[in-house]
Amino acid sequence: MRHVWGDLRWFEVKFKCIKCGICCIGTEMELTAEDIRRIEAAGYKMEDFVVEKDGVYRLKNVDGHCVFYDPATRMCKIYDIRPIGCRLYPLVFNGSSVEVDKTCPTWHTVPKSEVARLGPYVVEFLKEVERAKVKIKLRL
Ligand code: SF4
Repeated sequence: MRHVWGDLRWFEVKFKCIKCGICCIGTEMELTAEDIRRIEAAGYKMEDFVVEKDGVYRLKNVDGHCVFYDPATRMCKIYDIRPIGCRLYPLVFNGSSVEVDKTCPTWHTVPKSEVARLGPYVVEFLKEVERAKVKIKLRL
């Protein structure tokens, strides 16, 4: 298994994203400690982009969409340093296995090979999310 999470671009799903922004509306995207540190290093304060819900850190919403989503341009303000979960989307864990989230209008363009390539990392990502609170508290 590849070292998590060296080159973040490697974890991006190769499919036909039409940049509709639907996945940025009412986001509940989980964050790893590395996501939080990377975004903080770009000058953002944790309290401005993180909420805690169901015991894990998640992206904050403002006006019903991700705090980093710009509705005027339909672009992510931190695209190059965006969280790992945003890169792995539309792959999601349904509680028992990894699947493609059908909320994404082009979900059907995700090749099976991408599910196979990145599925294990979706599971690893969620383990990292579980560790995030401890890591942030202890500054690990
Ligand atoms: S919902 Fe799907 S197609 Fe739309 S921006 Fe998100 S990943 Fe891309």
